[in-house]
Amino acid sequence: MSEDIKSLNQKELGDFLHSLGEKTFRAKQIYPWLHVKHVENFDEMTDISNKLKEKLKENCVLTVLSQMQVQCSRLDGTRKYLFALSDGNMVESVLMRYKHGNSVCISSQAGCRMGCRFCASTLGGLVRNLTPGEMLDQIYRIQKDIGERVSHVVIMGTGEPLDNYDNFLKFIQMLSDDNGLNISQRNITVSTCGIVPNIRRLAEEKLQITLALSLHASSQEKRQELMPVANKYEIHQVIDACEYYFKKTGRRITFEYSLVGGVNDSKEDACLLAGLIRGLNCHVNLIPVNPVREREYVQPNHQVVLNFKNELEKYGINVTIRREMGRDIDGACGQLRKRFIDL
Ligand code: SAH
Repeated sequence: MSEDIKSLNQKELGDFLHSLGEKTFRAKQIYPWLHVKHVENFDEMTDISNKLKEKLKENCVLTVLSQMQVQCSRLDGTRKYLFALSDGNMVESVLMRYKHGNSVCISSQAGCRMGCRFCASTLGGLVRNLTPGEMLDQIYRIQKDIGERVSHVVIMGTGEPLDNYDNFLKFIQMLSDDNGLNISQRNITVSTCGIVPNIRRLAEEKLQITLALSLHASSQEKRQELMPVANKYEIHQVIDACEYYFKKTGRRITFEYSLVGGVNDSKEDACLLAGLIRGLNCHVNLIPVNPVREREYVQPNHQVVLNFKNELEKYGINVTIRREMGRDIDGACGQLRKRFIDL
């Protein structure tokens, strides 16, 4: 059986090498080739003997994504990548350039089964989970492409990371490992539609990553209309799980709220939202919904967005309106991948 070598952490790599009859410490040599220098084949590992290289070629696969397409924004330097996985599935990732550094948004699954009504990523359902190596390599390829360090990672592309829990967790550990890219956990944000038991589980992992919760509604009824996952986990259960995450980690929660014209953008919605999250150490990120061709949802006009923000601020809530990056390239998540699949 072929081992997926890029999905092994350093300890597992040592055990694997041991099982091939090699010394465990070779992992210290091989791990940086994979996770710091991001080689594309075993031959690039210049300080490894030919014998060991041959053994590795025989016994493992090296996950390297192929760049199929890249769209560059002329407005703000955002780059949107479409990558092919080894089985032909496609995923998308986005590079955003900020003053504080380069931020990459990655996908955690090919497709998604959560079914949020406004989201393009879920239209074709879930195809499969991504491996830790496939999540890492999205960042490695982009870092190589731009020749600059990536300092921030957000797991906000296609897929529900907490629906791929074990691979996601290993990915976070490897991404923040000082033998790898060594990205500070404080610079990593995971976004979830609210799988309650896994938010609680994540709270126990002793990580310092930021939790972003896709709320999008301030009542159970409205949330159910927009997000089928709400049928499984009631809105107050979700808020309680966020409170627990804060209690365990000390990390301030981000609530994402996509404003949909005429659906969740009224003054009353804002008041209910304020009541719902009152007392929680949190921050609200307002995102005018990105219209998706297959859906009828529209953005509220800018004044409605500002009014919503002002209303929340009256209750002392921290609010930002998400800056729309790369507006001139396929905006909403999943749209580039979807367009490619539809061709
Ligand atoms: N499954 C995770 C992460 C992927 S989606 C989650 O649900 O959080 C990343 C964010 O983009 C989520 O907040 C999601 O609700 C939001 N999103 C998806 N489609 C959107 C659209 N058309 N307009 C605005 N936000 C959208």
